[in-house]
Amino acid sequence: MATGLVEPGKLDGIRAVADRYAIALTPTLVSLIDRADPNDPIARQFVPDPDELLATPEERADPIGDHAHSPVKGIVHRYPDRVLLKAVHICPVYCRFCFRREMVGPEGDGTLSPEKLAAALGYIREHTEIWEVILTGGDPLVLSPRRLAAIMRGLADIAHVKIVRFHTRVPVVEPDRVDRELIEALKGSGKVVYVALHANHPREMTQPARAACARLVDAGFPMVSQTVLLRGVNDDPAVLGELMKAFVETRIKPYYLHHPDLAPGTGHFRLDIAEGQKIVAALRGRISGLCQPTYVLDIPGGHGKAVIGENAIHRQGGCYSVSDFRGEEHAYPPR
Ligand code: SF4
Repeated sequence: MATGLVEPGKLDGIRAVADRYAIALTPTLVSLIDRADPNDPIARQFVPDPDELLATPEERADPIGDHAHSPVKGIVHRYPDRVLLKAVHICPVYCRFCFRREMVGPEGDGTLSPEKLAAALGYIREHTEIWEVILTGGDPLVLSPRRLAAIMRGLADIAHVKIVRFHTRVPVVEPDRVDRELIEALKGSGKVVYVALHANHPREMTQPARAACARLVDAGFPMVSQTVLLRGVNDDPAVLGELMKAFVETRIKPYYLHHPDLAPGTGHFRLDIAEGQKIVAALRGRISGLCQPTYVLDIPGGHGKAVIGENAIHRQGGCYSVSDFRGEEHAYPPR
């Protein structure tokens, strides 16, 4: 890690974090960090902190329940019409609040071997109800264009798959990676390709990041955004509004604003849902309707997403009651 990013008093704690979780920053991200600001929102997302060793009882290794819905390695089939295809568990940067922090990294669940990838594609081929394949991980755009092209060729002849979606941070953290070769690889399936960009602070939307996104949109890939609502990063309507406007200016439709998941050692990032609802409500009317994200919670245990904006959920005692897409109610935080 670049020198000068960590206070000397935290070094021992950070070594202990490094023993447990993956750490990586790209030069692009390091250049965005204001070292004079002890509360820099970019540093807070990527520079490890000893607080990551403080786990709370409600936190869990698999907070959104991927394992419960994984019929074959690399596939998560949680909803009827779509699957996650987790081809790789490496990322160019490791977010300190990552919901898959126990699975990603050099010591994590690795990259699917050609045999495992063939089995995952076989599962998609056999399940004709699968309309959309979402490549996530890890960050699928760390794969070489050659490997991406192989995956896209594998999807090309599966007629019932109409949409392929990539979830990535690459255009922001390594914008030069979005080049002609990568774009040609993404076109290789002949399917409609969407790209969901993960960014959490307006300072991430630099000119090179915007240019990388423009290359994707100009190539014919519609873009949507996903943002995690994080204490000390974007828990302010002005900051969040600026980020949403930056997305729209870049031709990216704001999509999900995620309530932070119950990943181990991430309590210092989490807000109460009521605080999140107030922040989201404050965006309404102040900024264009185009800029409004949907505030969602991944219900712990693998029950899928629930919309949790004001009036969408109710509080009972110390808990919220959250309804999944089948209409079943779940307590949050889980008891
Ligand atoms: S890019 Fe996504 S998968 Fe990778 S560390 Fe960040 S949140 Fe986790």
